Amino acid sequence: MTPTTQEETPFARLAELTTKLEATTKRLEKRALLAAFLRSLRRDEVGPAVHLIVGRIFAESDSRALNVGWATLKKALAGTKQATLVPRPLTILEVTHLFGQIAEARGADSTRARRRLLEALLGRASEGERDVLLRNVFGEMRIGVNEGVMLEGIADAAGVEADSVRTAHMFLGDLGLVAEIALFEGAPGLRSRGLRLLAPMKPMLAEMAEDLDEVLREHGGQTAIEYKLDGARIQIHRRGNAVRIFSRRLSDVTDSLPEIVAIAKSLPAAEFLLEGEVVAVDTDGKPLPFQDLMRRFRRVHGIEAAQEEVPLKLYLFDLLHVEGRTLIDEPYQERWRLLEGLVPSEFLTPRRIVKRKEEIEPFLQAALSAGHEGLMAKALDSTYSVGKRGKKWFKIKPADRLDMAIVAAEWGSGRREGWLSNYWLAVRDDASDSFQMIGKTFKGLTDAEFETMTERLRGLATSEERWGFHVRPDVVVEVAYNEIQRSPHYPSGFALRFARIVRVRDDKGPADVDTYARLKELYAKQFERKGRGPEDL
Ligand code: AMP
Repeated sequence: MTPTTQEETPFARLAELTTKLEATTKRLEKRALLAAFLRSLRRDEVGPAVHLIVGRIFAESDSRALNVGWATLKKALAGTKQATLVPRPLTILEVTHLFGQIAEARGADSTRARRRLLEALLGRASEGERDVLLRNVFGEMRIGVNEGVMLEGIADAAGVEADSVRTAHMFLGDLGLVAEIALFEGAPGLRSRGLRLLAPMKPMLAEMAEDLDEVLREHGGQTAIEYKLDGARIQIHRRGNAVRIFSRRLSDVTDSLPEIVAIAKSLPAAEFLLEGEVVAVDTDGKPLPFQDLMRRFRRVHGIEAAQEEVPLKLYLFDLLHVEGRTLIDEPYQERWRLLEGLVPSEFLTPRRIVKRKEEIEPFLQAALSAGHEGLMAKALDSTYSVGKRGKKWFKIKPADRLDMAIVAAEWGSGRREGWLSNYWLAVRDDASDSFQMIGKTFKGLTDAEFETMTERLRGLATSEERWGFHVRPDVVVEVAYNEIQRSPHYPSGFALRFARIVRVRDDKGPADVDTYARLKELYAKQFERKGRGPEDL
């Protein structure tokens, strides 16, 4: 590659781009704008620009954070107003450099230092540029360019398939680096970036199983079930004496987990990439709540004391690389065989291979009574799909339940023709004294019950629609569901996954329905448990 002689790109150009991106809602136009812009940059500017456009400043795998609070920001803004000199225009590289200095400010006077650096940065920015800088500080660009759109823009800029860009992103966990490689090394460059030891990789994810029948059907009549541990996922990389541990979000957590590093060093292979879960346990080895584990993860000082306070237990469940051999394209069964050969059984996640529902249920009960979350079911012949969620891995959790009111009902079709059989379910919102819809279901009632329910709901109708009726919220049903999700479909902002009626609660009235507040609480709890919430690393 010839050395760059091209001048540094002014930050103003990036600010102009974001204005244009904000002005269009069309995905294709956004892609084209991004592509043209990225193509105009120098190699060393591509990564920084990509991160600034998506409003993240640093790469996903970069653990630096700005640490700029609202107070600091306000002072810095006030400080810049007093500046009188005509500022030298900023370049993209300078912006990233200054943000880096802010993140790295340490010591007793670091708040002041951060403020001064921020002042210097904002003081040199035009109004439009300042807007982009502030949005980056807050971590939200609001210009409709998420990771997905950016990946497509990168593909267009480089003239490569979007899929090859996505795959490279899974391995590299760094949108900016992916863009740089795509633009300057093309498809061959992207392909050469497979699994790398000591660098984090996006983990394979699981889908929620609707029920056990689905699991066995999708996995071809046989599946491997493992305990789903209520801890934090980690990937452990080792090459010789070097060990690095990364969280699910790809942060480097090596320093907070010395006992896991020691285990890694004790294993009889010089090179590997293991995956598993660390769980905080009490002195009897019983799992502790997720928050205790997070305390361990966040700890920077006094790690030894923390080790005693919150002991950790390691459960391994996958092996993706061993002694120069990458295993992601090997079937699960083969990976597990090699895993068993490498690690002592005390570190293996409890698991078994089953063919019948009746074998899954007791194992689920065992997992729950040992204090874990449920089970994972993994297809025996499945390869490891980096960064992807699919049905090759299922989560199996006991269903939760809510009492809800039916607020509308739709006519059924097919076998349910002539019955009001699809029910709109709602919780009670005390704040607005109304009902908040969070899902629909046509599951759980017998034919005879549908028939009675149809009559009953007709009698409660408040308005007729083409599809059915809105009804007075008098009928209360107990509904089982697998997960609460955020959803744009309902004004409540939530939706239940796999809702089904367990029974009609004739003993209850609208006043006994579960509340919207409780729903939100349950959602937050679920978040915590999964280790995916804002609490996660
Ligand atoms: P969820 O966060 O509910 O989507 O569930 C997936 C998470 O479960 C993974 O990211 C892991 O942290 C965790 N997990 C617990 N036990 C296992 C296991 N045996 N196999 C894979 N993931 C597991």
